Amino acid sequence: MKIIIITMFPKIFKNIFNYGLIKKAIVNNIIKLIILDLKKFVSLGEKIDNYSYGGGGMVISCNPLYKSILKAKENNKKSKIIYLSPQGKKLNQNYINNLSKFKSIIIICGRYEGIDERIKSKIDYEISIGDYILSGGEIPAIVLIDSISRLIPRSN
Ligand code: SAM
Repeated sequence: MKIIIITMFPKIFKNIFNYGLIKKAIVNNIIKLIILDLKKFVSLGEKIDNYSYGGGGMVISCNPLYKSILKAKENNKKSKIIYLSPQGKKLNQNYINNLSKFKSIIIICGRYEGIDERIKSKIDYEISIGDYILSGGEIPAIVLIDSISRLIPRSN
C-alpha cells in the first residue's frame, strides 16, 4: 500500500514509523510512505494560512494544499483522499478493515481551524479519531496508519 501524507510538519513522522510492524512493512516494501511538506508548495507572495473562504477562522490556504494534492495524485490517480477532522466519520475497526484494502491513500493533516472549504470537494473520506479536538491532523494520521498497517497482508 502506498500512503502519501500531506503535512505542515513532516518531521513529526521522522521516527515514529521506525519501530515494529510498520518498520518491517516499510523495509519489505509492503508499505511505501511518502511525506509531502506543505510548506514547499507555498509560492512567493502566498501564505500557508489564510482566512477561511466563506468566513470563519484561519485555515490552511487553498493554493498550497491544492498543489500538494495534485503532486500526490501525479502517479496515483486512483488514490483516495482522506482528510482527518473532528467532524469526520468516527474511525472504528470495521472502517479500518475497509481502508486497508486500498492500494493507495492520500492523508491530509489539518492545522489551525482546518482546511479551506474549496478543498473539501476533493476529499473522499473525512475521518475523526474520536470526539475531542487535537491541534493538528498528524497524530490522527499516525493512529490511522498504525491501525491500517497491521491489516495489510504480509505485514505481520
Ligand atoms: N475547529 C476545527 C474543527 O472543528 O475542525 C478544529 C481544527 S483542529 C484545531 C486542527 C486539525 O486537527 C483539524 O483540521 C484536523 O486535521 C485535526 N484534528 C483535530 N482533532 C481531530 C480528531 N478528533 N480527529 C481527526 N483529526 C483531528
